[in-house]
Amino acid sequence: MDDKFLRDSFDQIGIELTDDQVSKFDKYYNLILEKNKVMNLTKITDYHDAVTKHFVDSLSLVLLDDDISIIKRFHNGALVIDVGTGAGFPGIPLKIVFPEIRLTLLDSVNKKLDFLRHVCTELGFNDVNIIHGRAEDIAHIKGKRETFDFCVSRAVGNLETLSEYCLPFVKKNGFFISYKSEKADEELSLCKHAFSELRGKLVQEATFELPYSDISRTLLLIMKTGNTPKIYPRKAGTPSRNPL
Ligand code: SAM
Repeated sequence: MDDKFLRDSFDQIGIELTDDQVSKFDKYYNLILEKNKVMNLTKITDYHDAVTKHFVDSLSLVLLDDDISIIKRFHNGALVIDVGTGAGFPGIPLKIVFPEIRLTLLDSVNKKLDFLRHVCTELGFNDVNIIHGRAEDIAHIKGKRETFDFCVSRAVGNLETLSEYCLPFVKKNGFFISYKSEKADEELSLCKHAFSELRGKLVQEATFELPYSDISRTLLLIMKTGNTPKIYPRKAGTPSRNPL
């Protein structure tokens, strides 16, 4: 393991990792490699790639303008849900760097969540809430709906579909942070209706180059401006088949 590369990469985005955080990232990486032998968690297995494309990428939100004090809110125990977390991205790296967040991980595939339960035990995270289900169903449950300060999601669907999955979880004046590629503008142009129906407003779009790479990440910071009408999200499968 090249801990220097890990530390230097995080330094580049202004995060100085503690020894404990380095050891947690190393453990997480090893757990992914081990599990990847028996199930398809990720195609990214090279250590340097995993650091850049999974770990640092997950934390790229610290580069957003700090008008809304994301870092401070995270340190103060913000409620964060990661929708379609898969092998734990971006949720687990966020929890390693900001252990104070009250994190919920949601995915529709229970095998992945079994892996994440194991990861949380190994990393000593006994306060992570892990939910099996589809966003379309879980977002209607009292105590989950319009509850979170932040919803984060990476690589789960197009922005219209994803907004219908994610915005219902966010409380008024909270934020949905969507991890997108440089094609985000195209997706945004299709999203006007979805945002107005779901009560979302784009407040920042920013593209960053990930350290020691030519890979870029575009983040969309979408604010929740009011209550999402109860009809959303629609029945499971509808948001992806027939986006708003
Ligand atoms: N976010 C992770 C990442 O960036 O590596 C995983 C991305 S993976 C391509 C998409 C994940 O979203 C899968 O684990 C899938 O099971 C989950 N997913 C897709 N649709 C979902 C839904 N409607 N509700 C909950 N999870 C969903």
